[in-house]
Amino acid sequence: MGLGKLSFTALKGVFSKPATRRYPFEARPPIAKSRGRIHFDDGKCTYCSLCELKCPPDAIKVDRQGRVFAIDHLLCILCGACVEACQKGSLSMDAKHGEPWTEKQKLSWHTEAPPKPSGDAAPKA
Ligand code: SF4
Ligand code: SF4
Repeated sequence: MGLGKLSFTALKGVFSKPATRRYPFEARPPIAKSRGRIHFDDGKCTYCSLCELKCPPDAIKVDRQGRVFAIDHLLCILCGACVEACQKGSLSMDAKHGEPWTEKQKLSWHTEAPPKPSGDAAPKA
């Protein structure tokens, strides 16, 4: 490489925009259809455990009797199998990646069972 070309390349590097971002201070906007993170809506879940059966790395644990749903985000490979399996729309995946973590995150939800209908209700005619 000649001196002229070398100088041009060096000056171009000085005056052009940096090739990388200062993450996490400057985050990249999410790319459409990229796989970000699983979200769970406890209001829709029936604790059927179908998502647990379909999850390849066993990242999901469902306790049907105790009505507990738990997901280990460090095990999750974002395959989307649980989202496809859930018939209740309780699981979804967005394109936005989560914040960087400094500790293991295992999230769980517990929902109280809906109250049983009271036996005092008058039978319908
Ligand atoms: S998230 Fe969906 S598939 Fe999983 S236990 Fe709840 S209702 Fe069933
Ligand atoms: S996206 Fe895949 S790996 Fe992650 S919890 Fe769902 S089924 Fe399991």
